[in-house]
Amino acid sequence: MTIKTIGIVGSGQMGNGIAHVSALAGYNVKLFDISKIQLDKALATIAGNMTRQVSSDKISEQDREAALEKLSVTDSYEELATADLIIESATEKEEVKREIFEHLRPYISEDTILASNTSSIPITRLASNTDRPEQFIGIHFMNPVPVMELVEIVRGIATDDKTFNLAQEFVDTLGKQTAVAEDFPAFIVNRILLPMINEAIYTLYEGVGTVESIDKAMKLGANHPMGPLQLADFIGLDTCLSIMQVLHDGLADPKYRPCPLLVKYKEAGWLGRKTKRGFYDYRGETPVPTR
Ligand code: NAD
Repeated sequence: MTIKTIGIVGSGQMGNGIAHVSALAGYNVKLFDISKIQLDKALATIAGNMTRQVSSDKISEQDREAALEKLSVTDSYEELATADLIIESATEKEEVKREIFEHLRPYISEDTILASNTSSIPITRLASNTDRPEQFIGIHFMNPVPVMELVEIVRGIATDDKTFNLAQEFVDTLGKQTAVAEDFPAFIVNRILLPMINEAIYTLYEGVGTVESIDKAMKLGANHPMGPLQLADFIGLDTCLSIMQVLHDGLADPKYRPCPLLVKYKEAGWLGRKTKRGFYDYRGETPVPTR
């Protein structure tokens, strides 16, 4: 089996990135979302990001044009289901993801491979609710997708070798590296990264440092390219909270309890860059700390 067409469910910051790199690698891409506004935004973002790549000589104008031609959007599960590999990258909520696979079930062919870009929901559990746990796999991209080199590949307990090899090959063709992770809560990168971000939020909550001092401390003191609060805003505070909840529930260790301040930001709808407010306010020219 060769993969020619990629279907992507969810055209948010990750979905549009996956569409971007897949179209540039020569795949036909069908991007699906329940929100027409998000689909329009995704197309504009992809075109803009590719233009930036042309300006910095990372790709040619011909590459950009060819990739944009490969890209289409749809609001029909039936059309999406014609893809060989469907990567779900919708909101990090298990019931949302389950419903998406339910909707796809009547239309997909027996060869279709299903994947999820989930940051933290068990692949085995998502797979077991589909009609094809053997052909289900975690393909976990990093943010921002066009820039980050790593993709985690997560095998569910039932994932077969053929699916695993096809997923590996797909990632290779995107020019990215893979790290294989076992299917335990939050896999490798987020298992290590999110507790650090959560601790940074506790550090703010307990008044040990301000937003600026915490980010400066980790940038200059630990040589991190971004401060942890800046990174939290970049990931999305809803996604950060979901991952901490999955770690807390899945590993039953109080060291993973989400910081109440993270919960408060999520409840306020201050989700970081995507809503223009999180630990920083992005509505002006330069980001300003919100605490
Ligand atoms: P986002 O909020 O930017 O986008 C989510 C998109 O899903 C939205 O466009 C929304 O309209 C759409 N959506 C919601 N319900 C849907 C449905 N039923 N059908 C179709 N589309 C639906 O979120 P994101 O940051 O792009 O995250 C998406 C997935 O990627 C999550 O599973 C997340 O855990 C994972 N992920 C996120 C990051 C990150 O840094 N943000 C990194 C790796 C993986």
